[in-house]
Amino acid sequence: MILVENLTKSYKSAGGPVTALENINLRIQKGDIFGIIGFSGAGKSTLIRCLNRLEEPDSGTVEIEGLRITDLDEKELRMARRKIGMIFQQFNLLDSKTVFQNVAFPLKVAGVPKPQLAERVREILDLVQLGDKENVYPSQLSGGQKQRVGIARALVNEPDVLLSDEATSALDPQTTYSTLELLKDINRQLNLTIVLITHELDVLQHICRNMAVIEKGRIVETGTVDKFFLQP
Ligand code: ADP
Ligand code: ADP
Repeated sequence: MILVENLTKSYKSAGGPVTALENINLRIQKGDIFGIIGFSGAGKSTLIRCLNRLEEPDSGTVEIEGLRITDLDEKELRMARRKIGMIFQQFNLLDSKTVFQNVAFPLKVAGVPKPQLAERVREILDLVQLGDKENVYPSQLSGGQKQRVGIARALVNEPDVLLSDEATSALDPQTTYSTLELLKDINRQLNLTIVLITHELDVLQHICRNMAVIEKGRIVETGTVDKFFLQP
């Protein structure tokens, strides 16, 4: 389970502090696909980045699978992040590295020995159907393929949670659809909790079971996706 309590975050800016999140409370069950939707500037990106402390909240707590993320020191946080995968709108791949090397990177950092590393990378590349692309560079891949490399890299350490920061926003509708289908399969197969942010209703409706609406840094609605889309 992911538990967010009283999370608040503001940014310093020339015109004074900007409140990005104000007293956010969320409870996300293990194995859920949870969507956070809102307009540009609502605070989605800040919120999801506070879950793994890519952004430091000003106050409040984040707990993932019983671990109080907001209490960890730098070293503990590095360890904890191995269990929190993340995928991005712009994929964030290393362009000078092959598909294999990109996916192997988190395992290398974790000190996994070579034979195990290669076995794990190939297993996860098969899962995302890129088994035949291991020696290819990102520039040779389509957008959908790049995101599947991103997904493989995020999953290679067997995380408890996958965070998706607008992961399909740069993809065309058909590729968006197949990427969401892949995420659904992975959620089912691995009982992996997925938290995603999006500004697109279609994405939410296609993949999420539960959702929250964020407006001006506050959660204004939360509930099942069905509740929102099956109006009486
Ligand atoms: P969203 O992801 O929903 O578009 P963000 O979390 O990116 O929203 O932004 C929330 C608010 O915080 C916006 O008002 C935005 O301008 C502001 N903000 C985000 N990042 C920064 C930053 N690094 N410095 C100053 N203000 C920021
Ligand atoms: P999409 O239609 O999804 O954008 P592309 O046309 O970019 O896909 O790619 C289709 C296929 O061609 C993919 O298998 C991809 O790996 C391959 N491909 C694309 N660009 C190159 C390239 N520069 N060199 C080698 N293979 C490529």
